[in-house]
Amino acid sequence: MTPATTNPRQAIRDTQDFGEEGGVVPVIDVAATTTFLNPEDMDRAFRGELEGHYLYSRHSNPSVVSFGRKLAAMEGMEAALGVASGMAAIACAIEQLMPEGGHVVSSRTVYGGTYALFANLLPKRGFSTTFVDILDLDAVRRAITPKTKVLYTESVSNPLLAVSDLGALGRLAHEHGLAFVVDNTFTPLLISPADHGADVIVHSCTKYISGGSDLIAGAVVGRADFIKSLVDVNTGVVMLMGPVMDPRVAHELYLRLDHLPIRMEAHSRSAQFFCERVHAAGVKVIYPGLPSHPHHERMRALLRPGYGFGGMVAVDCGTTEHARRLAQSLQDDKFGLYAVSLGFSRTLMSCPATSTSSEVPEEEREKMGLTGGLLRLSIGYTGDDAVMTDRFLASYRKVFGA
Ligand code: PLP
Repeated sequence: MTPATTNPRQAIRDTQDFGEEGGVVPVIDVAATTTFLNPEDMDRAFRGELEGHYLYSRHSNPSVVSFGRKLAAMEGMEAALGVASGMAAIACAIEQLMPEGGHVVSSRTVYGGTYALFANLLPKRGFSTTFVDILDLDAVRRAITPKTKVLYTESVSNPLLAVSDLGALGRLAHEHGLAFVVDNTFTPLLISPADHGADVIVHSCTKYISGGSDLIAGAVVGRADFIKSLVDVNTGVVMLMGPVMDPRVAHELYLRLDHLPIRMEAHSRSAQFFCERVHAAGVKVIYPGLPSHPHHERMRALLRPGYGFGGMVAVDCGTTEHARRLAQSLQDDKFGLYAVSLGFSRTLMSCPATSTSSEVPEEEREKMGLTGGLLRLSIGYTGDDAVMTDRFLASYRKVFGA
């Protein structure tokens, strides 16, 4: 088990690296390779016998290490490694954990790319996955076989916003000797999966952790020995497959973590305001921050105080046609941008059934209750909440005539 988070906001604050000459931010260390003053030391570094000396930037880099230290502190875990994307984080974490012929039990309601990785790519590597309704603990238990090594879920699912019972899943995983891997992309800071038994946390840093929709990045967070294993020169998946994080990206993310708490509060505040208003106006809005959401109390119990219920919202428009017409009108009326992704300062909208979850076969989408009428919104914090909500309602009335 990893140490639990005490206070993620304070942990971010207290993790500080300095630049050369005492600069208040570290320098970006762009060097691809590092000089050894003594050739024997290089040999020792390759044998893993030399601590505290950089080697080659695919193995480790000071800027990537600085970012990893801050992210690990935020998550209350021992260590973190920045990688090239959220998908790289998921793929590398799973592959590193898997013995030959290993098996994953995964929530069915995961990001479409994750579903496709598990369903289409991992089998080619000899790993299999059983998808389950993660809310049904008996189904999860039944899916575990002697080959199962990993239990995988998203804290809050993409795109249906179901909230995983992380504590119960963590206990179940550990009873069966499994690694509990949690994608915390939707809820950085809001939920600390380490407090609920997660062994490994993965992030798409492209989303809230960046906040700028201007870069692609990911991270794996966990125990120090596991993170070190990812860059082992003989067996490390990140070292050998090579999806490392660029130091310039790592530096950006290192800086942006400082204002992540403020941004998460702002996303949650705007989303809560929006959802309460539109719910009262009769819109079928799905948001864990509304008491009408079936997992409202569960999410409340998981939340760290002060950050709200997050910025992800879904609107059930009934049909694909209505969802598209609403999205078009919302974009025309400058409510939001019709684009995949999330966690941007401005509102982003998409219809997951035909985009970010289109990789999930139709019968699986039916089982999870994902219809073409679902419009996903990543609520931004720019603009005035009341004006933005009025814009939404004006479009909604135009499309639904209500
Ligand atoms: N996990 C979740 C929950 C996501 O929504 C996404 C992308 O949308 C990913 C992982 C993949 O992240 P990336 O696009 O950075 O590879």
